[in-house]
Amino acid sequence: MLALGVTYLDAVAAAGGIPVILAPLPARRLEAIIERLDGVCLSGGPDIEPATYGSDAHPELGPTEPEVDLFELGLVRAARRRGLPILAICRGMQVLNVARGGTLVQHLPDLSEQIAHRQSEPASQPSHGVTIAAETRLARIVESGRIDVNSFHHQAIDRLGAGLEPIAWSDDGVIEAVEAPGDAFTIGVQWHAECLTERPEQAALFASLVDAAEHHAGLAEEKAA
Ligand code: MN
Repeated sequence: MLALGVTYLDAVAAAGGIPVILAPLPARRLEAIIERLDGVCLSGGPDIEPATYGSDAHPELGPTEPEVDLFELGLVRAARRRGLPILAICRGMQVLNVARGGTLVQHLPDLSEQIAHRQSEPASQPSHGVTIAAETRLARIVESGRIDVNSFHHQAIDRLGAGLEPIAWSDDGVIEAVEAPGDAFTIGVQWHAECLTERPEQAALFASLVDAAEHHAGLAEEKAA
């Protein structure tokens, strides 16, 4: 059984949204779930089963939850088909990447040991900076090209999924955020924004998700009318 921190719910609620937690259900139930949502926030969690992107397990792969992987991959694809806004956090950003055919670095220290991506400081404390590409949705939301973030990830994006663009990097070159410019609001961040909402730029991420969800709900109502 996985536990979900209340920080996600608080962050969405503080931004004016109504958070609901989804149980990992079989794929055939996905459409029924998605119909009732205006947006999706994917949470952090364990490593992703490498078979989902066609790789063998690395010796340092952490524990995985294959059923949750399948549920979340299906959820992301269903959300995309319906044009739902998506804010994907930490593992969620990795799920977003795999759902679009991307792959992951299974053990980040293989790639970089310059920066501790599994910080020892508390989650409310940033531990490394990220540089954000100009002219991106993320740069507009956080109103900056450089912000400080926390870091609790064992894995990272390797090959990018279709339609995703890398838009932020830590100083060791690890991809720290992605967006899908051709889609509805779709942003992935590798950091735990939900633990940093005392910072206006991080709270703004959740406000943007809720805005996009309200916009989507408005469009859906127009269609139904
Ligand atoms: Mn990091």
